[in-house]
Amino acid sequence: MISIREQVDLKPFNTFGIAANARYFVTITSTDELRELMTTDIFKTTPHLIIGGGSNLLLTRDADCLVIQVAIKGIEPVHEDDTTVTVRAGAGEVWHDFVMHCVARNWGGVENLSLIPGTVGAAPMQNIGAYGVEVREVINTVEGIDLSTGELRTFSNEQCEFGYRESIFKHAMKGKIFISSITLTLTKKNHNFTTSYGAIQETLQHMGVTFPTIQTISEAVIRIRSQKLPDPRLLGNAGSFFKNPTIAEEQYETLKSEYASMPGYKTENQEVKIPAAWLIEQCGWKGKRVGRAGVHAFQPLVLVNADNATGEEIWSLAMNIQASVKEKFGVTLQPEVNVF
Ligand code: FAD
Ligand code: NAP
Repeated sequence: MISIREQVDLKPFNTFGIAANARYFVTITSTDELRELMTTDIFKTTPHLIIGGGSNLLLTRDADCLVIQVAIKGIEPVHEDDTTVTVRAGAGEVWHDFVMHCVARNWGGVENLSLIPGTVGAAPMQNIGAYGVEVREVINTVEGIDLSTGELRTFSNEQCEFGYRESIFKHAMKGKIFISSITLTLTKKNHNFTTSYGAIQETLQHMGVTFPTIQTISEAVIRIRSQKLPDPRLLGNAGSFFKNPTIAEEQYETLKSEYASMPGYKTENQEVKIPAAWLIEQCGWKGKRVGRAGVHAFQPLVLVNADNATGEEIWSLAMNIQASVKEKFGVTLQPEVNVF
């Protein structure tokens, strides 16, 4: 039985910790509850905003709509053979708890994605990624309810149209599908470890690890993240505010001749990805505070709510950063965070 509340403060439901009112708010724990919601006048007459953990969301105004919080639970293997297990996870499961579930069972594929905040259902939205692994590498299917028909739809990996921090759910299917569960195929043996990225190798060495395992990689990632990233419970943030821009190789070479220390990573399409954090730091933003909003001192790609900032204040800071990077380097930073 669903219960629709009115005028709910969204501050506890977004990791930026922005105070904003939802006109209506409902928590959904099953697809039956969602279908029940779809019969109500409120659903039929009010625009809606789906939220999981609110860790990739910037609220710049009150949500004069129906906020639907996803809380569908459950983790169960649906197929298993000698080398792999395919597991279904409810969209409302906490992503990191799901990763820990897999790590504890020695299921490989998501260990590099340890400690990413948010829910399982949001993972395919932007094809979450960290330390050289993206969730698209293990997603088998994404299941969701079509919000215009109530029909349960299954998207194959290919149909999700995954890209760098992208999927069909951020584009053609935006706001149209309520993701209810996902299935992932993980390894039981012959694991494919990715340890060459960022500080993983170095951290494993510090830990005294010679032969990495799923557990030690996960532990290394947790250690690095805990040291470098602000805990949203202590300092409001939504992780990386911008995507890392990708530019043509020629443009990169031109910039590199002027800025010799500019890092760059070749992509599959022969373009070059530049860490947005480096660009932002070069523009003097690292650790800077502007009114009640700020730029994190260790990781300038993370904007923070320093002291009860409004979403508009954080957005204004983001736009100033975007403008200064454009002016200095001619590169346009695109927000990764979903702005409402
Ligand atoms: P929300 O913020 O609640 O929602 C995000 C978007 O998805 C919204 O548009 C929402 O409408 C939509 N949505 C959510 N659930 C559903 C659903 N079930 N059906 C349909 N639409 C839905 N991201 C990375 O990729 N890699 C990282 O390493 C990473 N590190 C982070 C570190 C920190 C400290 C923080 C705060 C964030 C980080 N993020 C990272 C961003 C964020 O954690 C992920 O994008 C995460 O998947 C968001 O999950 P969520 O449940 O909080 O989504
Ligand atoms: P980092 O290790 O300091 O690296 C800086 C940037 O360089 C990263 O953004 C990464 O791009 C890129 N990079 C580093 N090594 C690379 C390699 N070997 N090949 C290609 N690209 C490489 O980054 P960090 O800020 O500490 O973050 C570590 C990881 O966690 C990154 O993968 C990052 O994406 C992820 N993370 C994401 C969020 C978020 O909200 N989206 C927040 C925190 C951390 P990529 O970002 O493309 O990997």
